[in-house]
Amino acid sequence: MKYNSNLVKVNKDPGHGSHISPVYMTSTFVFDNAEIGAKRFAGEDPGFMYSRLGNPNVRELEEKVAALEFGEGCLAFSSGMAAITGCLLGLLQAGDHVVAHTALYGATHAFLSKTVKKFGIDVTFAPFKTGEELEPHVTDRTKVIYFETPSNPTLSLVDMTSVAAVAKQKGVLTVVDNTFLSPYLQNPIRCGIDIVVHSATKYLSGHGYLIGGLVISRKDIIDPMRKEVQKTMGANLAPMDAWLLSQGIRTLHVRLDRAQENAQILAERLENHKAIERVYFPGLSSFEDKQIMEKQMRGPGAMISFVLKEGYEAGVTLMNSVNLCTLAVSLGDVGTLIQHPASMTHAIIPKEEREQAGIHDGLVRFSVGIEDVEDIWNDLESALG
Ligand SMILES: *Cc1c(COP(=O)(O)O)cnc(C)c1O
Repeated sequence: MKYNSNLVKVNKDPGHGSHISPVYMTSTFVFDNAEIGAKRFAGEDPGFMYSRLGNPNVRELEEKVAALEFGEGCLAFSSGMAAITGCLLGLLQAGDHVVAHTALYGATHAFLSKTVKKFGIDVTFAPFKTGEELEPHVTDRTKVIYFETPSNPTLSLVDMTSVAAVAKQKGVLTVVDNTFLSPYLQNPIRCGIDIVVHSATKYLSGHGYLIGGLVISRKDIIDPMRKEVQKTMGANLAPMDAWLLSQGIRTLHVRLDRAQENAQILAERLENHKAIERVYFPGLSSFEDKQIMEKQMRGPGAMISFVLKEGYEAGVTLMNSVNLCTLAVSLGDVGTLIQHPASMTHAIIPKEEREQAGIHDGLVRFSVGIEDVEDIWNDLESALG
């Protein structure tokens, strides 16, 4: 299954022939007469009406991403969380049950453990890797299976074909967050998954200049979600951000090739460094889910987690000693980002719970960028010293 790099080609501007699409910074669209206005609202004319309901830059992005993820349609949202929560609220109703993986992005976990309860939706959290491990958690009321692969922080994988097969047999929808790999390295829909969600803020943007989210699926799922969720909840992506994302996607495969190559070299060196106890990276021979990786990923990605032997203090010292590597959360940027979950993103979770989730005091999360690999290594090595 090849990646569709044809999408490097840009759309032609029908007005003046500009190579790059113009940005349609407009809230509303003009109707030539009452009849055309009526036809647009009736869905009989494809023209635009109002930017919450659709915009040319947003449509261009949605078409590109639907093609990249092998879906029939895509919806763009104002953030990854708007895409995830919009998708789930669109699929679920009171009385439904969800099986969610235990290792989820923090805000997704909060939404599924707290917010959905207000709407009478039950969630079971389970650490499944295969369909066999998932099956005992599925009940007659289960409507959705939700997970991430690879997941934070140990980059452990879920076998998508195996989970999708069990879900299909039970008539349950599967939703996968594909943020960590992007459509360049993994296409869940090709593995039988029903719906893919993305934080476009990360690799798809690649330049750290916006917040955005996407949902990709079949027409029978996307069309009602467009009417019910995107139009009524109004968490739509702005035209400028959609335009920036379309430009970012043009270099996705080139950026990821370089970042991934850097990550492979750095992970191997980190594994042999005396200050480091353990490295989690799908490209290492020590990686526990190698077999699943070979089934569903085109490459290991560019996220590395590693554990410092000296724990919490060593993590804080490393954060204060790096220079080229930027001390910040988020990931998928062209520049290398580094963060220490125990003192930052996961600091509010009690130490015992953190450790149960694999977030040890010395754990460092590293999003490898496209700089010269020796520059990144020199920075890291001197900071570790
Ligand atoms: C960042 C992230 C999100 C949330 O996306 P936002 O764009 O920040 O709303 C969801 N899932 C994963 C895996 C992420 O990394």
